[in-house]
Amino acid sequence: MAEVEYLTVADALERVLATVSVLDVESVALSEARHRITAEEVVARDSLPPFDNSSMDGYAVRAQDIEWASAENMVTLRVVGDIAAGSYPPFTVAQGCAARIMTGAPIPAGADAVVPVENTDEQWRNRERPLPDTIRINRAVGSGGYIRRVGSDVTAGAVVINSGQVIRPQEIGMMASLGVARIAVVRRPRVGILATGDELVAVEEALTPGKIRNSNSYAQAAQVADAGGIPVMLGNAGDTEASVRDRLQTGLEAGVDLFVSSAGVSVGAYDVVKAVLESEGTVGFWRVRMRPGKPLAFGRYGGIPFLGLPGNPVSAMLSFERFARPAILKMGGHTCLERPRVTVTVREALQSDGRESYIRAIITRRDSGYEAVTTGGQDSHMITSLVKANGLVIIPAEVRQVAAGEQLEAMMIDWPSIVF
Ligand code: AMP
Ligand code: MG
Repeated sequence: MAEVEYLTVADALERVLATVSVLDVESVALSEARHRITAEEVVARDSLPPFDNSSMDGYAVRAQDIEWASAENMVTLRVVGDIAAGSYPPFTVAQGCAARIMTGAPIPAGADAVVPVENTDEQWRNRERPLPDTIRINRAVGSGGYIRRVGSDVTAGAVVINSGQVIRPQEIGMMASLGVARIAVVRRPRVGILATGDELVAVEEALTPGKIRNSNSYAQAAQVADAGGIPVMLGNAGDTEASVRDRLQTGLEAGVDLFVSSAGVSVGAYDVVKAVLESEGTVGFWRVRMRPGKPLAFGRYGGIPFLGLPGNPVSAMLSFERFARPAILKMGGHTCLERPRVTVTVREALQSDGRESYIRAIITRRDSGYEAVTTGGQDSHMITSLVKANGLVIIPAEVRQVAAGEQLEAMMIDWPSIVF
């Protein structure tokens, strides 16, 4: 029976990921597209550059005319026009002639090279720079020199961005260059966040005896957003089944794609999340061999995937990191679901109880490789050591003792797994 199962982290993650699928597609404006996942190929409708243009400020010339130019043997050409970026030259550069041209301006007919202004006698450091009648050139430039050819970057019709790609600033730049103002992307997962516990008060409320602030919901909302999801706050249900059901109903009506709750999943007398899931939902599993974070519920409520995280703030955050984050990333269309890992040398002896343990640490790069130093008290209610940490050193399952100087893997929680 599912209740007695005690899963490894890997098995639990596999089950969670098998239950969630990539969401449907929506169209967004470029300004909204960063960090989203493309749901279509982008095909270039134009070539880039769209026309031959100059890569320098200088003079558009016929290469043959300046073939023998040098500092000792300067060649004089007649200046027939001035081409600013954004203008289109109506004239042709004939033999013995040149046109002043700015970077990015179209190459005029007749010209087949550009001489940088530095290789002319024009006073180019003078800001005024009136257009001279003639120009003297002190070096040869071969045909095609300093010209950026039409299509040298992108050919019209080419696929420039694949489907399933993370949209980074460079993809946005590419799309803008090609006049793509909207793009089909995977919808962002809406994640219902529920706290449970009669001891909880909201962050702006005063603490009265026996109460603590609901920190999990705020931390989880930030974790949801970090994973590309939209947090939907369902508040604090307290410790009655009726209020848990009530809040979950609100989530269903809000159209959430995933529920994440905290607390109420262990074996206490008031573990209401567990009770509600058992009576009305479907339960996938209850316990994971992970430290911190052993009690973990996974199932469905009203057909929606449900992750019941532990109540202790660090357990909640690390279980989120390990299970909810990959699930949200997958739903949002990402294929890279894991944080980057590095091999670290631990600077002190570490202990575990045989569960896969995630130890809060500062990981520093040294000449000899990465080194990990723990950040203090590792109890599951101690947020301080998580605030100080930039990574989690992983003690594999069944390992109970790690000596100083041994090597382990660490998850880099500040490094984005996605280009995010
Ligand atoms: P429980 O799973 O209900 O036994 O809760 C475990 C521990 O986590 C208890 O000390 C709770 O007070 C604490 N806790 C539960 N929910 C939250 C929350 N939303 N924010 C901060 N601490 C919490
Ligand atoms: Mg409780």
